Amino acid sequence: MTDKATLLQWIDRDRDVIVGFLQDFVRAPSPNPPGETREAAGVITRFLDRHELPWRTVAPKAEWPNIVGTFDTGRPGRHLVLNGHIDVFPVDETEAWTHGPWSGALANGKIWGRGVADMKAGTSASVMTYRYLHEARAALAGKLTLTCVSDEETFGPYGARWLVANEPEVLGDCLLNGEPSSPHTIRFGEKAPLWLRFTVRTPGAHGAYTHLSESATKIAARLIADLDALAGDEVALPGRIGEAVRAGAAAADRAMGDGAGAIVQCYTVNIGTIKGGLKVNIVPGQCSFEADIRLPVGGSKDDIMRRVAEILRRYPTATAEEINFTEPAACDPFHEMVGHMQANARAVSGIDPVPIISLGGSDARLWRQRGIPAYVYGPFPRGMGQKDENVDVEEYLHVVKVHVLSAFDYLARVP
Ligand SMILES: [Zn+2]
Repeated sequence: MTDKATLLQWIDRDRDVIVGFLQDFVRAPSPNPPGETREAAGVITRFLDRHELPWRTVAPKAEWPNIVGTFDTGRPGRHLVLNGHIDVFPVDETEAWTHGPWSGALANGKIWGRGVADMKAGTSASVMTYRYLHEARAALAGKLTLTCVSDEETFGPYGARWLVANEPEVLGDCLLNGEPSSPHTIRFGEKAPLWLRFTVRTPGAHGAYTHLSESATKIAARLIADLDALAGDEVALPGRIGEAVRAGAAAADRAMGDGAGAIVQCYTVNIGTIKGGLKVNIVPGQCSFEADIRLPVGGSKDDIMRRVAEILRRYPTATAEEINFTEPAACDPFHEMVGHMQANARAVSGIDPVPIISLGGSDARLWRQRGIPAYVYGPFPRGMGQKDENVDVEEYLHVVKVHVLSAFDYLARVP
């Protein structure tokens, strides 16, 4: 029967295939917007067909297919689900890339291109896990499900959100996801976005007639300064999750930049866009801006909305509307799966990953919100959302190995 040493031999034997798969995946552009992913999904389904693996398409929107595959070992056991997204950030055409954004070039020990880190490397790790565990299924119990989704980058409704709401087989007992993070961390929770659009309206006037109207842009500037007061409050978490957050602060700094650990449990406020005024010599009659407020795990949207309403009472010409919200969620930082991932990362590369809460969001939240433990383990996000996005080949192979081995441990047949 297959054991973990055999799995590692298979991965080493297939190194060129695993690297080539990711290169081909990057070469099939899937920027979102616009979100068309059929070509990139084809790279996955051709691979699954080549290995005679079961899969089907779930496509509430035809151009944005989700690929779902399940196999049952025929023995009672647990159900592990793998999740990754196919769509990627768009490319800023004014930026010059060292290697083209859709080149999938292999140079200097790295694979280059848009989406290679976020998250085609992680999604490839899921596909490889599905493939190798299918081959090793005689040694396993329970079920394994693969979900490769479209429509992640814009929080859209047709990807993982569709699957968890309409395809109960994707829920399972535990989830693994390879979103970019860091081989030194395992993410067991994430902060949540609350996006609000504020609009200030005044009569407006000629720029010399400031006595006739208040300026919408000046009011917006004062309102923005007041909203900053929402940031900074820290939410203390009790018990094991609080313990893990404190212990993970240094690892969070290393993975997400100095200072990340200090804001994991704080509310933050970012004013992402602002639009106001028509012309330099007109008193603006309208100004609107969008605020991205991040809630920590344990944070309360009602609390924030109450405070926003209090602030708005001082600004009768301003209104606010919600444009996006998802509940913050975390799962057990000391779950069995975390133990498997730590042991395997140590055995494969001598890395000791630490459980942390992520600042940014991922589809893993959808499982956590339903009480299913969900863990994110992926490569470092080099150049994510910028030019020259890349993933180190050895780091990619490390992530593949940790996913394959940890999934194997979780489903291993008890002799
Ligand atoms: Zn992503």
